[in-house]
Amino acid sequence: MVVLPSHVFIRLASDEPIEEVDTRSKINMSNLENEETIKKWANTYQLHQEKGTWWKEEALVVAGDNNLKRGVISAFHDPPYCGHPGITNTNALLKQNYWWPNMKKDIEEYIKGCAVCQANKINTPSKAAPISHYYRPRSTTFQSSDHGLHHQVTTITRI
Ligand SMILES: [Zn+2]
Repeated sequence: MVVLPSHVFIRLASDEPIEEVDTRSKINMSNLENEETIKKWANTYQLHQEKGTWWKEEALVVAGDNNLKRGVISAFHDPPYCGHPGITNTNALLKQNYWWPNMKKDIEEYIKGCAVCQANKINTPSKAAPISHYYRPRSTTFQSSDHGLHHQVTTITRI
């Protein structure tokens, strides 16, 4: 009978967060399926191959469908310890580890569609400001600021 020493389990469990390991293995599988695409990118984007893995400088190349890319972005944006950083910060974190063409655009779209980020945006003071118009008397101000009125209605409805 073979009994694995306990430190083997500890190493497996604590090496990297599970999601990270999961993301990496998904990328590796997807990259194998999309090797032709990566080879087409190689010259244009100056990619290099090392032991079967494709890199752009220090970043792992990611080739695959939107689901895979969204999964990668989510790993750097959604977890509580990441705290939903904005587009610039998410991009900065992500590009240290992963790369694909138009990554920044995908990050932008992801964050624009992130319910948590959008909810936070609505509660920022700049969006809440037009509410003060609401308390102004129905005078020239009210009639001349259609745009302001639109914002008031939106803000109040969401609260
Ligand atoms: Zn978010």
